[in-house]
Amino acid sequence: MPLTALDIYKVLPKTNCGECGVPTCLAFAMQLATKKAAIDACPYATDDTKATLAGAAAPPIRLVSIGPEAQCIVMGNETVLFRHEETFYHPTAIAVRVRTDRSPEELRAAFERVAAMVFDRVGQFVRVEMVALEDADGDPGRFAAAAALADEMGLALMLMSGSPAVLETALTGIRGHRPLLYAATADTWEAMAGLAKASACPLVVQGRDLAELVDLTRRIAGLGVTDLVLDSGARGLQATLGDLTQIRRLSLRRQFRPLGYPAMAFVTAADPIDQVTEATAYICKYAGLVVTDGLEDWQALAMVTARQNIYTDPQKPIQIEPGVRAVGSPDASSPVLITTNFSLTYFTVEADTEASHSPAWILIVDTEGQSVLTAWAADKFTAETIAKALAESDLAERVDHRRAVIPGGVATISGKLEELSGWDIMVGPRESAGMSVFMRTRWRQPEVAAGS
Ligand code: SF4
Repeated sequence: MPLTALDIYKVLPKTNCGECGVPTCLAFAMQLATKKAAIDACPYATDDTKATLAGAAAPPIRLVSIGPEAQCIVMGNETVLFRHEETFYHPTAIAVRVRTDRSPEELRAAFERVAAMVFDRVGQFVRVEMVALEDADGDPGRFAAAAALADEMGLALMLMSGSPAVLETALTGIRGHRPLLYAATADTWEAMAGLAKASACPLVVQGRDLAELVDLTRRIAGLGVTDLVLDSGARGLQATLGDLTQIRRLSLRRQFRPLGYPAMAFVTAADPIDQVTEATAYICKYAGLVVTDGLEDWQALAMVTARQNIYTDPQKPIQIEPGVRAVGSPDASSPVLITTNFSLTYFTVEADTEASHSPAWILIVDTEGQSVLTAWAADKFTAETIAKALAESDLAERVDHRRAVIPGGVATISGKLEELSGWDIMVGPRESAGMSVFMRTRWRQPEVAAGS
């Protein structure tokens, strides 16, 4: 539970000297409780007091990073149960499980497949980040060679073995790259914690249930190992989702420290579509890491797309740079299309324009990431803002005509825009799916269309 002002007051010096900037220790305690002041402002606070208050101020879910510093995967530090309350900050990492009972060539092929799972979606590169390398036979040499190969290929790793000795051998060559170690159990927790501490690697703690998990994290944190990831031991959608939800609730609502770490989940469904559904459920609630067996590209794309949607800040829509972009190889006679800088809008217009086989210039107006009608309603996609964007662009030099196309949804501004910009304004389709027909029947034959 968070400390109250009274709890904090009890550990302050109670001399009411006023050097912290407020007249009494109680007033200072109230400021600390509401996070309007820091304990450093009191010169008489002891180290014990500082340690007590710092512990209380720690984030309810610890931030844990995996992989080399330059490209580490970060999980945890979430602050809300529901995305609409604020936002989710650190996207769920997705790992593909690869067992070591394969030939070196097969392992390399499996790693290459994971490394290639990168997708360009609405202007952002989204990918599958990790390999969960599972020790199939307890052979330290084979496991270490496979880990070294994946590491060499730049993949972040979760190293899975029941044997601390096998993990220790694998760490010899790659410990600086901070793989995630899996897992400390009731039988191995001391040895695994020792290994995590010596190698400065994050560690998964696996309980048979939540009660055992709490017991283990307390013990392991007591040894000074605090970069932990939780595996409640649950398998299957219903049980796993239940535990993930309990862990998130207890860590956020009760600030229950033994569960204040990011949690992970394993996909267990056999059917490929069910696998995507299960992984997506864990991405939504509340896994920091999802491990799945062999993954097809379509499954990976569905998972990273769901993740991108869930982890996009609803108050900051994905935007692209305003300005002029070319679709195909436009020339001086090509159409000028106008749209907003909301990524989903822009990339839909771009794709539909490409599909129309008509090279075009697209003028992207800065609407702070809002779609056409939202921006129009908010006075960000108006005759004035579009005329200004047209004037500030170099389109007048790029084309030898003065015709521009606005979305059909804002047809009402066409007259005023013509006045302000000096361009002939054509009203395009309401949905960009109508772009092919528009290009064929309106842009190429404006006179026919005007007379029709
Ligand atoms: Fe109390 Fe410290 Fe503030 Fe003095 S400086 S009033 S001791 S909290």
